[in-house]
Amino acid sequence: MHYERIRYDIPVPGVGRVTLARADKANAQDRQMLYELDEAFVAAMQDDEIKVVVLAADGLHFSSGHDLKDTMPVAEAGGPVTGAGGFTEPGPHGHFATEQEIYVGLCWRWRNLPKPTIAQVQGKVIAGGLMLVWPMDLVVASEDATFSDPTVAFGVNGHEYFTHAWELGARKAKEMLFRGVGLSAEECHRLGMVNHVVAGEDLERFTLALAEEIAARPAMGLKLAKLAVNQSLDAQGQWNAIQAAIGLHHLGHAHARVLHGIPVDPSGAEVIRNLNR
Ligand code: ZN
Repeated sequence: MHYERIRYDIPVPGVGRVTLARADKANAQDRQMLYELDEAFVAAMQDDEIKVVVLAADGLHFSSGHDLKDTMPVAEAGGPVTGAGGFTEPGPHGHFATEQEIYVGLCWRWRNLPKPTIAQVQGKVIAGGLMLVWPMDLVVASEDATFSDPTVAFGVNGHEYFTHAWELGARKAKEMLFRGVGLSAEECHRLGMVNHVVAGEDLERFTLALAEEIAARPAMGLKLAKLAVNQSLDAQGQWNAIQAAIGLHHLGHAHARVLHGIPVDPSGAEVIRNLNR
């Protein structure tokens, strides 16, 4: 398989590793990257030699979020894969369809991958960056990692995969959204969003050791344990909450179109730049 935005390797037996390989752009996610990720995840799921998948990232920062300059049509970028359609329809119709496919749809596929997944995180994780971390099962962060969703400054409720309240608890989720300031790895660890915080130089070694330990368990037990926890979240209404939130998100986009002629409040760009200086 040939990838341009990611790499795939098997660093230790039983562990597949997908690495974001766009360090010169702080691993900003264009559509090509999203579909390469999807392809690599699916390939790892279909390889019975692989028991656990690690999602890592090159460079200083795990991911600065979506590449907002990228408008490659879904069909050219590698999709669609979720059964969504209507991407070329004008106005909010096409925009909603596109975000259902490339954001909510892909994140939900990755959340439901039938093998354990571990995010290995350093540096900044901003907005869409969280949409790669949160669908993973475990999160290992280096001490310098920070996590933020500043998209309220764009006039929307938050990024498109809205599991904030599950990840952080309702109060911290609201503060994260209202302020847009990055939460430290240590604080996210305390809140239960991060499993382990380690020194930067130990990040890869620690993550692979954890992956190797898990890979020694029976594939069936791992699959069932993951399903049982995910189904507990489903019973709490997680999927319905995500669907309700993407509707609100697109109300925000539509509002900005009416007021500003573009799908986000243009004053947000400056706010977000200052938050991440
Ligand atoms: Zn959006």
